[in-house]
Amino acid sequence: RYAYVNGRYVRHTDAVVHIEDRGYQFADGVYDVCEVARGFIVDQTRHLDRLGRSLSELRIDWPVHRNVLELVLREMVRRNRITDGMIYIQVTRGVAPRDHVFPHPSTRPSLVVTVKRLDPAIGEERAAEGIRVITVPENRWERVDIKSTGLLPNVLAKQKAKEFGASEAWFVDPDGTVKEGSSTNAWIVTWDGKLVTRPADSGILRGVTRTTLIELANKLGLEVEERPFTVEEAKAAKEAFITAATTIVMPVVEIDDEPVANGHPGTTALALRREFFDIAEKVSAC
Ligand code: PLP
Repeated sequence: RYAYVNGRYVRHTDAVVHIEDRGYQFADGVYDVCEVARGFIVDQTRHLDRLGRSLSELRIDWPVHRNVLELVLREMVRRNRITDGMIYIQVTRGVAPRDHVFPHPSTRPSLVVTVKRLDPAIGEERAAEGIRVITVPENRWERVDIKSTGLLPNVLAKQKAKEFGASEAWFVDPDGTVKEGSSTNAWIVTWDGKLVTRPADSGILRGVTRTTLIELANKLGLEVEERPFTVEEAKAAKEAFITAATTIVMPVVEIDDEPVANGHPGTTALALRREFFDIAEKVSAC
């Protein structure tokens, strides 16, 4: 297995970063995750657009030209012989003696790319069963639109879910509306067949899968309502599901120990999952 670290492909076991990297000390960095499916990098343009936005919001420069990063992603998939899996891209502000203010003159941003193989059969099995989610109070900062490596509330929420026998935790605002999962966006399907998901400008990450799924829904003639929904509405909905790059569309069958509808994966979610790959952008890695 190979990792890419600041211009070099190195054996994963030998890949190291400096102890004064600001990512390590301050979580002063951003990341993005792309799915690899059937040998294709899925929705690469949207993931790199979002990486560029996260970087610019934090005033971190691109570590390499975007075209070069695209070549690195393909090379990582090729070298590691990934057919199905994920690519993790992380950029931090770089290495400098520890000081809260930005280094001056600015340092070269650090770039790390790793890949992981995932068995698509496992995802299919989970989708056939559906997953359980719990809800937790929203306790993150206001800039969750930036895909920052500072993920402690998300880590704690996901751990709580696991200890509860669930797969995801939904952050909920004091008004009872669902924000998103710790690493996924949240959706419901109403009894009259509309897809509902929170507007991307209201305290959530603009998921790439979310954006592509809205396109797919439009193509299929399904109505999408971008509005907040409450936990109670989700429990009483026809279906609930989550989306993320490697999860694609995953039915939710239980929220806080209560079944969603009849407690089985919804047909709309499963249909959207089946059709997703057809509409997504596919960049060949070979
Ligand atoms: N929301 C959060 C907090 C996430 O971390 C992620 C992905 O990691 C998502 C939503 C889904 O985004 P995407 O579909 O781009 O993977």
